[in-house]
Amino acid sequence: VVSEGVEVSEGVVVIEGAGTPEATWQAWPALQAFPSLRLENAPSRVVVVAPHPDDELFGVGGLLRLLTAAGAEIDIVAVTDGEASHPGSPTMTPADLVSRRFAERAAALRRMGLDSARVTRLAIPDGRVASAAVRLASALTELLEPTDWCLATWRGDGHPDHEACGSAAAEACDVVGARLLEYPVWAWHWATPGDSRVPWARASSIRLPAWLAACKQRAAAEHVSQVRPLSADPADAAILPPSGLGRLLRTTETVFS
Ligand SMILES: [Zn+2]
Repeated sequence: VVSEGVEVSEGVVVIEGAGTPEATWQAWPALQAFPSLRLENAPSRVVVVAPHPDDELFGVGGLLRLLTAAGAEIDIVAVTDGEASHPGSPTMTPADLVSRRFAERAAALRRMGLDSARVTRLAIPDGRVASAAVRLASALTELLEPTDWCLATWRGDGHPDHEACGSAAAEACDVVGARLLEYPVWAWHWATPGDSRVPWARASSIRLPAWLAACKQRAAAEHVSQVRPLSADPADAAILPPSGLGRLLRTTETVFS
């Protein structure tokens, strides 16, 4: 989810502190009123652009499972390896984090019933996706087919890596003619209900049945290095404490189309 700690300042968006409580989002009627994303004409392949090794789960893990059940193949583009989640950690080096997070993603995908998803690692430096934007857009252009759906982090998500992935995916989809769906991750932290910076009019939602929401919770728990402290040292704090997890594990997922 995150690359350089939980405090990221980008343009008008500031990611810091505990963020908007999930209870505030749940009290907003519009959240439950977005039209449902139609899955009747699911594509035969979905390409998911994940800036960090857990974004695909938190953003659209339930949707991916539903699309798999509808017959779609899932292709995950692992943009970075997530090595910058704990800068200054006294217990794990960036290289340790790469292997740890690779294993956690695999376990989480298994929990989601997404074992068959293909994961392609681009190994772009965590926190610096924007500097590799041209390379990323051309990799996506090469990979995508006109009939694919491309799910990417939202261009306005407030985290530089997430925004760079969304922009590259939008560019590639324009060239190829594939359908783009953008998923917010950090927006749930910094935005507030009705926030004018968020394209709510383009939002569709995916309602997860109870079994699938439970499945997603178990999958999230596999990302141990992100949801629990690595040690008692402040540099090893959990990236996603329970307050942040609540927003990402609600029983609906949202995409902008
Ligand atoms: Zn991320």
